[in-house]
Amino acid sequence: MTLSKLLEGQTAIVTGSSRGIGKAIAISLAMEGAEVVINYSSSLENANKVVSEINSFGGKAYPLQADISNENSVNELIKTVLDKNNKIDVLVNNAGITKDGLLMRMKTDDWQKVLDLNLSGVFYCTRAVSRQMLKQKKGRIINITSVVGLMGNPGQANYSAAKAGVVGLTQSAAKEFASRGITVNAVAPGFISTDMTKDLNSEAILAAIPLGRLGEPEDVAGAVRFLAAEPSAAYITGQTIQVDGGMVMS
Ligand code: NAP
Repeated sequence: MTLSKLLEGQTAIVTGSSRGIGKAIAISLAMEGAEVVINYSSSLENANKVVSEINSFGGKAYPLQADISNENSVNELIKTVLDKNNKIDVLVNNAGITKDGLLMRMKTDDWQKVLDLNLSGVFYCTRAVSRQMLKQKKGRIINITSVVGLMGNPGQANYSAAKAGVVGLTQSAAKEFASRGITVNAVAPGFISTDMTKDLNSEAILAAIPLGRLGEPEDVAGAVRFLAAEPSAAYITGQTIQVDGGMVMS
């Protein structure tokens, strides 16, 4: 007997899935049988590598370029997916950047760029899929925020403001969409080993993590897979699940 996969026949979009956490999420959803849209901004080569990795275990995926910080680019992305797949079952808003600096010296451009992608991008994508998901009366949206959106971080006023905004957006969207069978949740990673964190001083960071290690992209993907695919997650909405090795406990 072969066990059926939880997302067989479903369409999932993962923004910023050409590397890092998004890549691990895309692979985990493809392993559950979803056809996954591998969105990237600049590296088709990386996106193609993710597609090949997914194809190697018999999974389905295709790459699609879009600048998630740009409203028109997002609308085009969603239109292209709907033209091809006719539906969108799962949206993972993962694309994100940092442009760190102390608030006193932070350039307006660095503030704006981080807000444009990490917060407005989540809004653009959620709005663009909402009509289709409301029509389907079905959908799962997962937003990748960060523990710094819950507690702040020196040098990251822009990033923590954007990530805190994602928590509020998640809760509001969850309330708006609940009556149509759409759940909206957030996952808040702590420190995860990716390009984004490669320059951080890990000794000081490790001391603050009860589980004593940085997280891996797969640790985050596990929580996203649960929220996106498990029938038993259907009654969870508006929540933020921390995947941080116990770093932030409230
Ligand atoms: P990463 O390794 O730097 O990867 C970023 C991804 O986002 C890449 O696929 C990149 O595509 C894509 N991207 C960048 N700008 C984009 C744009 N304008 N439009 C579309 N895609 C864009 O980052 P990560 O560490 O995996 O982080 C993923 C998410 O987790 C982010 O939201 C981040 O804030 C969050 N997070 C990360 C950590 C951590 O410790 N790493 C902790 C908490 C939260 P290209 O390769 O084409 O540029």
